[in-house]
Amino acid sequence: MSGPIYMDYNATTPVDPRVVEVMLPCMTAHFGNAASRTHPFGWAAAKLAERARESLAAGIGARPEEIIFTSGATESNNLAIKGALWVAEGRGDHIVTCATEHKAVLDPCQALARGGASVTVLPVDPSGRLDPARVAAALTPRSALVSIMLANNETGTLQPIAEIAAACREHRVLLHCDATQAVGKMLVDVTALGVDLLSFSAHKLYGPKGAGALFVRRRKPPVRLVPLLDGGGHEQGLRSGTLNVPGVVGFARALELCLSELPQEGARLTALRDRLQGAICSRLAAVTVNGHPGERLPNTVNLSFAGVDGAALLVGLAEVAVASGSACTSADPRPSHVLLALGRSKELANASIRFSLGRANTPEEVEIVADAVVREVTRLRQQARGKPPRE
Ligand code: PMP
Repeated sequence: MSGPIYMDYNATTPVDPRVVEVMLPCMTAHFGNAASRTHPFGWAAAKLAERARESLAAGIGARPEEIIFTSGATESNNLAIKGALWVAEGRGDHIVTCATEHKAVLDPCQALARGGASVTVLPVDPSGRLDPARVAAALTPRSALVSIMLANNETGTLQPIAEIAAACREHRVLLHCDATQAVGKMLVDVTALGVDLLSFSAHKLYGPKGAGALFVRRRKPPVRLVPLLDGGGHEQGLRSGTLNVPGVVGFARALELCLSELPQEGARLTALRDRLQGAICSRLAAVTVNGHPGERLPNTVNLSFAGVDGAALLVGLAEVAVASGSACTSADPRPSHVLLALGRSKELANASIRFSLGRANTPEEVEIVADAVVREVTRLRQQARGKPPRE
């Protein structure tokens, strides 16, 4: 029996078997602690980890010493945001971020606000884009950090990071970018973007869960952070704890594979995404596309179906694994903060589905999913019309 069709690749991805292959020896033959300097077990593990660091750095246009390994993007975001604010203590206590950021950015900012920092949360336009001029206007002499994502996890909308970076540079304020949904799906180059700090995560790009990285710019001038964890002083003192060698080796291999397949896979996914969107929008009335029409991830389409209860729709779509928002908040019945920020009503935000496509999806699956969505939305709308209007 085959299970549901998986179209929730923005939540997580399966580990590529070619990634598993390079990870396994790191758990058996090369099990050493990468910090053990006194014997070949440690040297072998350190060599594997350093190769992974070089490869990941090359994958985002950074230098190896600019990669700090973490447990994932949540930790990378916390390290970047709290670390930059704590370093600035006495000089700066203001953060600028945006209403559509992931909770792994908004919540660390709120935690700092409870400790006395001030946080400006900027609005976006109806396509989810942030105007760089708003960032420039929000900066004050007390600003220590701007944190803006590259690609939104719910809508796929891309932010104009290079322009935002120019505004930050002019005002000498650090820019952190949560690029968790972008790395592996599009070319990401830290120099072209002009960012100082950039978070990404292995499990979004066919690597293992529990491995992530933070790019920390080391030149012109080097960025300083206060670590979240104190301990053995690993990762240049920024992230103590025994290195997850299988995780980082798998992470590096996963990104290499994504980048080598990116030109074909990006075009394939764009075509599938457009086909899905077209097949649904051409057959149903009152469907809103949430996100920017052009400046969007190749794999993501988020649709609102007016007059339909999103929870009932998800139940009706049992043959498809999709999401109504981000996986991290899928247990939360409140409407998506991202869709509300785009100006959608609570009702419409609750009647939304995110389809995020990936490697295993085929044109046949796209047709099956489109048919199922059209069938269920039509059924639920008919049902709603048959019911007496709600008070
Ligand atoms: N930022 C964004 C934009 C994400 O989509 C996610 C994962 N949902 C995270 C951060 C958190 O990543 P991780 O699961 O690696 O902690």
